[in-house]
Order: sequence, then C-alpha cells, then structure tokens
Amino acid sequence: MFLNCDLHSHSGYAGGVGQISLDDLEKTMDKKGIQVFGTGDCLHAEWRTFLKDNLIEKEDGLFSKKGNSARFLLQTEVIFTAAVGSGRKSVHTVLLFPSFESVDKVCGLLESMGVKNTIGRPFIKCEDSKDVGDKLCKILDADEGIEVIPAHVMTPQGVYGSNNPVNYMKDFYGSAVERISAVETGLSADPEILSLIPELDNFALVSNSDAHSAALNRLGREFTTFDVSSVSYGSIVEAIRRKKVARTAEFNPTEGRFFLTGHRAGKKGHGDAYCAFSPKFTPKDERCPICGKGLTVGVLERALRLSDVQGGTRELGELSPSSKDFIKMVPLVEVIAYSFGVLSVTSGKVVSVYDAITDAFGSEAEMWFAKDSDIEKKLSSIGIAPEIIDNIIKIKDGDFCFSPAGFDGTYGKLKVGEKEDIFNVNIVSGHLGAQRTLF
Ligand SMILES: [Zn+2]
Ligand SMILES: [Zn+2]
Repeated sequence: MFLNCDLHSHSGYAGGVGQISLDDLEKTMDKKGIQVFGTGDCLHAEWRTFLKDNLIEKEDGLFSKKGNSARFLLQTEVIFTAAVGSGRKSVHTVLLFPSFESVDKVCGLLESMGVKNTIGRPFIKCEDSKDVGDKLCKILDADEGIEVIPAHVMTPQGVYGSNNPVNYMKDFYGSAVERISAVETGLSADPEILSLIPELDNFALVSNSDAHSAALNRLGREFTTFDVSSVSYGSIVEAIRRKKVARTAEFNPTEGRFFLTGHRAGKKGHGDAYCAFSPKFTPKDERCPICGKGLTVGVLERALRLSDVQGGTRELGELSPSSKDFIKMVPLVEVIAYSFGVLSVTSGKVVSVYDAITDAFGSEAEMWFAKDSDIEKKLSSIGIAPEIIDNIIKIKDGDFCFSPAGFDGTYGKLKVGEKEDIFNVNIVSGHLGAQRTLF
C-alpha cells in the first residue's frame, strides 16, 4: 500500500512563524494528501510535552489526535558541527523516532554530551568526523528503530553544501555512514541533480517539505510515497532501509533558494543589486563582483563538482538506478495565484479555487498524480478557468521555469510556458521586484 509521508518539519520552537497548531497541520495535511507528517523538534522539552499531552499512539509508532485520521511521526532535525577541511562544518540531519521512550532516551544521551535542547534544532558539537560518527552511532544505538537521514543534502547547511565542502558523505559522518540508508533531496535538488553524484547510487532518495508552518505552499511542498506493508512506523522505516520508495514529489530545484551561485539583493554593500551565475559564468575567484565577498555557491555548481571528484559519468537529466519515479510540482496555491496575477496565496479567490480543485480530486497530491486528460475533464466540469487548467498541465509537463532561478536564499520566480537555460545565467546586477519570503 502507498503512503504519502512528509517527514521533516519544524515547530514554532525552531524560529520562523510562531506556534503551529495540530488542528491547522491536520487541515493542511488533508488538503495536500499527506497521510503521515513529521512532528518536528520532538527533542524540545515544551514541544515534546505538548505532543505527549495531545497525541495518542494509533498504530505502532504513529500518533494522532483522538479520533482523527492524520498520523504524526516523532521527528527532529539536529545540527552536527565538526572541524573538517579548512574550518568547521555544520550539517543538518533528520532523526525519526519509534516512540516517546526512545525520544526521552536520546534527550538524556544528548544532555550527557552537553547538548542543549532549548532550541528546536539542537547543536551537537563534535571534534571531527570520527566524533560525528561515534556520537551519531550512540544515538542510533539508543533504539534500533531510530532512523537518520541527512537533510537537504545540497544546501549550504547540508552534507554536500558549499560551506567547507566535503567530497564524500563519510568525510563528515565518519563511521556512521554505514547506518545511513537514505538522503533528503531538499527543495534545491531533485533526483536529476542528485543522479550526478555517484555515491548516492547506494542510498534511497526521499523528499520532505522542511515546513516551518501549516501553510498550503509549505507543508507537503515535497513528500515521499512509500510502498509499505502496513500503516506503522516500523513499515515506513523498513521502506526507507530497503529503498522501497514508490515516488517522490519534488519542488522544482530552480525555485529552491540555493540553486545558482550568487549574492542576493539587500546583502551588505548590495542595495537593490544582485548577481546570479550558472557554473560556467561564476567568477574564477568566487568573489562577488558587487561586494567583493565570497559568493554563495549554488547547488548546480556543487553537484557538477562532486560528479567530477567522484568520477561521475551521467549528464544532468540522466537518472541513476536509485532514482524512482518523481513528479515535479509547484504548490497549487502558487499556480492559482500566478494565474490570477496576484502575489498573495491566501487571498479569498485563490483559496476558494484551491478548495474546489482539492474537493474534486480528494487532495492536491491526487491532482498532481492524475493524467493530463483527467485533470482537464474534471476541472472543466466544475468550472475552473481554462487558464488555471492550462497552467497546471504545463507545470505537470515541465513547461515552466523559475527565472532567475533561486540563489543565495531567494526563491526563483515562476514563469509558466517559458524556459530558462540554467547553464546560461550570467546576471551581475538587476532588480528582482517583489521579493518572496524566505520560509
Ligand atoms: Zn535544515
Ligand atoms: Zn556580494
């Protein structure tokens, strides 16, 4: 049976948009078609207590509010920091837990390591990669059901990210690399980009939203469909370990905030000016032509370098054997807002069209999985404007771009029916117009 899972999120304790209610999460999960959602921040004392008080175990390791169908899975992100290469590297890492007992056990273990659980995303300070391996193995040894997934591997805070870059996963995770079965694609990468990196042929690729809110364009903006034998925590983890990923649903990497190399507008010394480069146009010294500081190296550039170092032979677009079917999506509220020419994805008319579409299909996920002809038929029959239907189908078919693509923390800007050559972006100054929010 197939289960749509979004296993990486954050509570209000990780910073961002304030407190998030379980009711709001459930409502959005239902609309988006997400059956299992990671709680985020489950090591944080207050959030943990809140979850214990408000959730009951429904199936083995999966929790819900009394009588409700949405399922929650205990999850956190931690940040391992260690000296590697020329400086310290911080790597975001997702942990999944089978029970509150295992969460409590790891909380105790982290306290004994001197880790503070007072922020949603605790730092685990390590000496070097050997120490990262030892500490991560100790965490995993606390309960055999605990699963580790390197988070958004290509962003600057991911294991392959541009901050003090490493060439292989073991260069950061040390001996614990043996215990890792899957990596998270993150918003800035998808199976096409990650297929450039040979060592990932041995790992499952999973996708999660990393949502900091229950908004319709955050929760479930990426997710993974697992092929499971039953609805339970154990089955989901078994699917990860045996690479039984049925498909991932991906945010377009060029919309992600770190796709190209560059510096965003508003940075010190920039004013309105920004710069963005495809790999072949990045200045040789990697310095920003506007402010003179080091550029934020984008995902495309990092993936191509890793491919080189690891002896990769695939071109961008050639999929590795571990890549499963994946679909490209743009959050439906953004497609509707774009079609109406409005910026706000929460405006009344956007939401009412969204509700009509998701009611017709059962959920947003089901709409993205549907055939073009079924989308056309169903949406026409309920009176959805032809332009919206046309934009949805073009996006499904890959006939869209984000121009300029995302870079240095800015999201790309959607343009349906247009193409941008991601290998030929060379912008040294310009004005982005309305900036999009960062979370
Ligand atoms: Zn993260
Ligand atoms: Zn700059």
